[in-house]
Amino acid sequence: MMSIKENDSKFIAGTYARFPVVLAGGKGSLVWDEDGKEYIDLGTGIAVNTFGVADDEWVNAVSKQAASIAHTSNLYYSAPDVTLAKMLCEKTGLKKVFFSNSGAEANECAIKAARKYAAEHKGSDFNTIITLKNSFHGRTITTLSATGQDVFHSLFTPLTPGFDYAEANNIDDLRSKVAENKTAAIMVECVQGEGGVMPLTQEFVDEISKLAKENDLIVICDEVQCGNGRCGSLYAYMNYGLSPDIVTTAKGLGGGLPIGATMLGEKVENIFAPGDNGSTFGGNPVCCAGAVSILSRLNDDVFEGVKQRSDYIINALKDCGGIKSISGMGLMLGIETVKDANEVIAYCRENGVLVIKAKNKVRLLPALNIPFELLERAVNVIKNAVKE
Ligand SMILES: *Cc1c(COP(=O)(O)O)cnc(C)c1O
Repeated sequence: MMSIKENDSKFIAGTYARFPVVLAGGKGSLVWDEDGKEYIDLGTGIAVNTFGVADDEWVNAVSKQAASIAHTSNLYYSAPDVTLAKMLCEKTGLKKVFFSNSGAEANECAIKAARKYAAEHKGSDFNTIITLKNSFHGRTITTLSATGQDVFHSLFTPLTPGFDYAEANNIDDLRSKVAENKTAAIMVECVQGEGGVMPLTQEFVDEISKLAKENDLIVICDEVQCGNGRCGSLYAYMNYGLSPDIVTTAKGLGGGLPIGATMLGEKVENIFAPGDNGSTFGGNPVCCAGAVSILSRLNDDVFEGVKQRSDYIINALKDCGGIKSISGMGLMLGIETVKDANEVIAYCRENGVLVIKAKNKVRLLPALNIPFELLERAVNVIKNAVKE
């Protein structure tokens, strides 16, 4: 009989370079492979399993909804999406939510909203969205175009026009990109994830607000990875005192099931009319019930716990040899190691710790409630892994 890995190579499209592990189960911050080998999970399925794997409250919420009605389509009203939308609006001050199934779709919706706003208020030639170099906004052709990394672009051209890229944390470059184009919006991750776990500076974020005010631009925060408590507040923009017009999120909101959310602020709350956007699965009751169980627990105690765990990791690693720098915010950390990151990641895996990569860095995205005892064990493995 062929193994899972062999059948995967044979039947699954070759878009993923997977780690050589077949995950079979887990509980909280522990996961195990098909042979029963246990790992401490510091990757959470790329910032998705917010409170770990098979979290009781989440499993209950999802199971109950699945046993009641799993799918309705958007031809009918249902309760879970309305509950979730109301919670998101009350917690952020944004006004309305469009639900989809992924980060890319949440960003597609944000781009449509920004373009429609600019078309109505400034003219349809004002359609350029300024994003940042090293950003990541998704894999669809348009969100790929929004992504400021050439490596993702080649062989998929022509891309969607109407994007230009400013250098992150370079105020002059941002200012000139806004001026050079007929600009509709600025779209940023407050902490770039795939681009190497790089937070924006306060000064740069302040400049975004200033430029937006001066030019009637829509500010879009892509909180797909850095949101939902990961950076020590509900959304990372809140750490900067920024007031975005549109906030997109996905990954950690669902706690393990696919969901995307595009939150629309006052300027764009009524931008969409029936037919302007849609999704068969968007607002799916099971996904929304899971998200409600996650969001209802994202409170100040959890954020305080995120900060404590973050400080613990940084303090434990900052002076140990073999580390050049640690970047990031909260429980979204990038470790630049002297050794090749792949080598560090492989050592960790062999020694029972799952970590992932971002650019040349080792990326940590643990569950927000990872027990300190597991964190301590994992950090000790990382210390050995980075040793020269
Ligand atoms: C992962 C990610 C996306 C894309 O999300 P998908 O659910 O994979 O489509 C978009 N933006 C950021 C910042 C991300 O980290």
